[in-house]
Amino acid sequence: MSFFDHHYNDQTARERMVRYQLEARGITNPRVLDAMRKVPRHLFVPPERVYDAYSDHALPIGEGQTISQPYMVGLMTELLDPAPSHRVLEIGTGSGYQAAILAELANEVVTIEREETLSQRAREVLESLGYRNITFVVGDGTEGYPPLAPYDGIIVTAGAPFIPQPLIEQLASGGRLVIPVGHRYEQVLTVAEKDEQGNVHVSEHGYCVFVPLIGKYGWQSETDGEWEPEGVV
Ligand code: SAM
Repeated sequence: MSFFDHHYNDQTARERMVRYQLEARGITNPRVLDAMRKVPRHLFVPPERVYDAYSDHALPIGEGQTISQPYMVGLMTELLDPAPSHRVLEIGTGSGYQAAILAELANEVVTIEREETLSQRAREVLESLGYRNITFVVGDGTEGYPPLAPYDGIIVTAGAPFIPQPLIEQLASGGRLVIPVGHRYEQVLTVAEKDEQGNVHVSEHGYCVFVPLIGKYGWQSETDGEWEPEGVV
């Protein structure tokens, strides 16, 4: 018997999450809200954190990584605005929760993760939930995934020092890239849209905090970009 059988109904927990964390903060896209009402977030967190699955914060998922705060998933998905015909690329599979939300909204999801153990765990959960429109790739997502490009939407769920050029190249015309860009410990949620002429328009949507995007077109290592206290040798 699970935590939710004992204590409360997980559907009620999701309804509250949508109402008080998403709608109350201005997320309005009904397709996004419905997807977040539907996907069982508690199946994507470690068993010892299930009681916290619908709380208003990110949670550790192992390997030093996190499942993002529900509001951040909602906001990024609303900015991406996936349509039922879209092929979407996600960089940073992590727990697989964001991939599930995307799989509810788009035709096809390609998700890349650099940590093989996380990718495998996410695949098991997503397959057990019956998702058949997700392709799992283990590798460096800063290089995108050329074999299935172009993408109608690209979402990066780790913090980048700059927008990786391969992702701009693999965006379809009319496509949209959502990515946290900035310092190691704080980023700006950034949207880059490619118009029909191939011109890119960038807009900013507030501050956020993500674990680092590590790769050829990202941070170079786990410690790259960390601040060194002045005067300490
Ligand atoms: N979207 C995830 C979810 O729903 O649980 C949360 C992702 S977590 C905040 C960021 C993930 O990005 C980590 O799992 C990390 O290993 C991964 N990551 C970092 N750099 C990467 C890269 N270059 N390519 C692919 N994945 C990367």
